Amino acid sequence: MSSSETHTHDPVEALEKHFGHRGFLDGQQQVVSAILAGRDTLAVMPTGGGKSLCYQLPAMVMDGVTIVVSPLIALMKDQVDALLEKGIPAAMINSTLREHIARMREGEFKLVYIAPERFRSHTFTEALQLALFAIDEAHCLSQWGHDFRPDYLRLGDAIRAIGSPQTAAFTATATPEVRADILQHLGLRDPYECVSGFARPNLSLKVAQCEKRDTKYKRIRAVIETHKTGIVYCATRKRVEEVSETMASWGCSVVAYHGGMSDTDRSEAQDLFISKKRDVAVATNAFGMGIDRSDVRFVIHFDVPGSVEAYYQEAGRAGRDGEPSVCELLFNYADTRTQEFFIEGSNPGFSLIRDLYEHLRTFSDERGEMTISVQALSEDIGAKNGMAVSAAISRLLRCGAIERFDVPGQRIRGTRLQRPDTPAEALGIDTEALAEKELRDRDKLKSMVEFSYSTDCRQGWILNYFGETGGGPCNSCDNCRSGSSEDLRNPDATEQKAVQKALSGVARMSRRAADGNWEPRFGRMKIVSMLVGSRSKEMLDARLDALSTYGLMKAEGSNYVAALMRELQNAGMLVSSGGQYPTVTLSPKGDTAMRGDTSYRMRWPDPPKQTRAMRDSGRRDEAPIAIEELGFDEALFDKLREKRHEIATTEGIPAYAVFNNQTLEFFTRLKPGSIEAGSKIRGVGEKKAERFLPAFVE
Ligand code: ADP
Ligand code: ZN
Repeated sequence: MSSSETHTHDPVEALEKHFGHRGFLDGQQQVVSAILAGRDTLAVMPTGGGKSLCYQLPAMVMDGVTIVVSPLIALMKDQVDALLEKGIPAAMINSTLREHIARMREGEFKLVYIAPERFRSHTFTEALQLALFAIDEAHCLSQWGHDFRPDYLRLGDAIRAIGSPQTAAFTATATPEVRADILQHLGLRDPYECVSGFARPNLSLKVAQCEKRDTKYKRIRAVIETHKTGIVYCATRKRVEEVSETMASWGCSVVAYHGGMSDTDRSEAQDLFISKKRDVAVATNAFGMGIDRSDVRFVIHFDVPGSVEAYYQEAGRAGRDGEPSVCELLFNYADTRTQEFFIEGSNPGFSLIRDLYEHLRTFSDERGEMTISVQALSEDIGAKNGMAVSAAISRLLRCGAIERFDVPGQRIRGTRLQRPDTPAEALGIDTEALAEKELRDRDKLKSMVEFSYSTDCRQGWILNYFGETGGGPCNSCDNCRSGSSEDLRNPDATEQKAVQKALSGVARMSRRAADGNWEPRFGRMKIVSMLVGSRSKEMLDARLDALSTYGLMKAEGSNYVAALMRELQNAGMLVSSGGQYPTVTLSPKGDTAMRGDTSYRMRWPDPPKQTRAMRDSGRRDEAPIAIEELGFDEALFDKLREKRHEIATTEGIPAYAVFNNQTLEFFTRLKPGSIEAGSKIRGVGEKKAERFLPAFVE
């Protein structure tokens, strides 16, 4: 196939033409430009950030074939299928390389995916005319990474053997050490480096110091009361069972999920959660890969995770719809013990590997085979940590000392010695590297503990950890909030009145259930609109102007009322239904405050500015409040949010990747009348302006 007529050198045009996307996601354009400018590149983007496009698009524009190395065969297969579906000539090589090289030379493919282990048996003797050599999940080549794959260590040599073509490496998690490793090992020349897309402005990160189990449960109760739908991550299966049973005993709608359950039980649990038949999933980190539920309003870590990478990936499952969500880590230093156990388990020292190997050499049958469970094997060699024995088996597999085979009719697998005459010391196991890896794992846990004790902005801390620059304090994490805090206090007379008015507005727009509890009917912004007496069509159509509380807080203005409502929710006086369009109502605490109780403490928004409505109040009571005077048109905001939802759904990206709430708020306030005006608004980058802005300006 001749591809010359398909060439187009405008990346945006190629993006639309080959991939059907109308614009770039955060960071993509810079990476694509750097690659098209001929630069070696190292790009760090979070999972789902759109890394594959960063090499697929250049592959389409550049002459010659692009090789992609990726560690997971299943993922490669999916990608190749997706490319073929788009009419892009791609192939996956999971057999011998040699026979494919001729076809690659002939220009049969634009993209060829190769499993890293292919480079084990094949040494390139011929230089290939490549467009680009792309390496996905590049952290796999670093021993400091969480997913070291020795086959990746052959890539440096492979690249040099092909004649050092332009190289681009991609990964989701790369600390500075890992990045240094990637650069050095692949021999990237004056590389373009970028880290992008890690900030999640709609997440409020929090660490609660919890010395006691009881305190943790109290925190869970508090979080589910306000946020309802979410995930509680636990470190162990046992803990998952304990926490899910406890929560179920409170009447919570929970589902448990961990690696010890059968496949059917697990997928059933997952389905229940994804289909929203359950509100909360209590899970180990085995839960996550496949969960795609956008309205996760909270993620709680019941135990400290083993690394910041793991923590942030799990916490990041909250708020995929761009709505405010909370991530709370229930921290108890004693829990690091569990993680240490895991570290020991995944880092068998050389002595354990040797004991295991010598045991196999001594007791295997004449064919060098032994069939025994890991548990029995652990007992036989006197190892305490069964996980470590499994890890030792993997080590021996990796260095080719043994192979494993299935035994028909049995669940346990057999082990066969490959080089029975080689003593453990001569297997070529790098004992120094083993020790280093363990040290790194311990360092990661230390970083996690540091994060937990840090008093800096949590979001800033994380961005810094991943090496992403820019961004000020998030103003929503516990540390940002407590900076201005100690301002949790009881209301003064004016504030109390404002709270009572706001809460009675919420009550008017809720329904009283038979059990005396309140049930929500409207979203927070609708209630604000009603309280300030908005004349929007929606208000009038729903006859909300007939409520006794309509316009009750006209003088305070919608900015203040909206801020007050947020704080009331933070203080646990309002509860949210969660879900895509969350509705709010009074909690029992809110109910008593509405009736005059003043014992609550909360954070207070700045007092309302003098608005025209305030100055004019008393002039003509029935004077309609112009939306312009309020500065914030909730109905418009709601509309923009709906537009965003629509775009996010058609594009198949999370809502916050379109524009975050703050940017929508700016749109609402500033009402940009042109693309040009809109592009000046914070949160509107060049590509987003091109891609999404027209719909919003309209
Ligand atoms: P990663 O490899 O970084 O985890 P992917 O490359 O798999 O992410 O992309 C994640 C999703 O984002 C995919 O569904 C992809 O189709 C989509 N995507 C990538 N780039 C764009 C874009 N420019 N516009 C819209 N969607 C995109
Ligand atoms: Zn912060």
